[in-house]
Amino acid sequence: MQFDIITIFPEIFDSYFNESILGRAREKNQVSIFTHDIRKNAINDYGQVDDKPYGGGPGMLLMFEPLYQTLKNIKKKDNYIVVLMSAKGRKFTQEKASDYSKLDQVILICGRYEGVDERIMEYIDEEISIGDYVLTGGEIPAMIITDAVTRLLPGVLGKDESSEDESHSIDGELEYPQYTRPEKIAINGKNLTVPSILLSGDHAKIGAWRQKHKK
Ligand code: SAH
Repeated sequence: MQFDIITIFPEIFDSYFNESILGRAREKNQVSIFTHDIRKNAINDYGQVDDKPYGGGPGMLLMFEPLYQTLKNIKKKDNYIVVLMSAKGRKFTQEKASDYSKLDQVILICGRYEGVDERIMEYIDEEISIGDYVLTGGEIPAMIITDAVTRLLPGVLGKDESSEDESHSIDGELEYPQYTRPEKIAINGKNLTVPSILLSGDHAKIGAWRQKHKK
């Protein structure tokens, strides 16, 4: 599985993708993540990749040419999708993450400023939003999608961690509450305890309790 992220800020991704579960998945080649700097395909020696919108209005748009060239230069695998990060797009869900996890390659385009020249839509399969709010760029949305998809890939979560019995793994169902050591926490005059069933070792009862306490 490969991610290709098209952005004017490729450095943003380095730290997050090199840590923890994602870092480990990359080291084990369970996932490959590449960034592609749009500015390498700037229209001039000043590195220009944006311009004012026709018809007026505030802000700048990413120009068609640099985006198109960057996208074109990416070697495509058999089963790939091109996704534009967009506040106008369809809402990203766990189901969508699961769909993407079955592909060979996901190409994510990060907009900036006021967005992108509409004509790039010809080359895009899906417009995806991570929620009903507006961010300064598509980089955080691209990280969110990469993260959510990668943890679903085979072998990425260790055998003690599972993505099967989690919030949203069944639509509308949320995970039960969980506790770890210590068994009792005395704090500010209160005793915070663990539901006794979870300490009982009775797996049937624990399963029933968890089922009941799912949201
Ligand atoms: N003018 C646009 C917002 C531009 S924000 C509008 O009104 O819809 C700049 C870029 O950030 C967008 O092109 C997009 O790539 C990204 N972005 C902002 N909010 C986002 C969201 N909720 N989900 C996905 N991408 C988002």
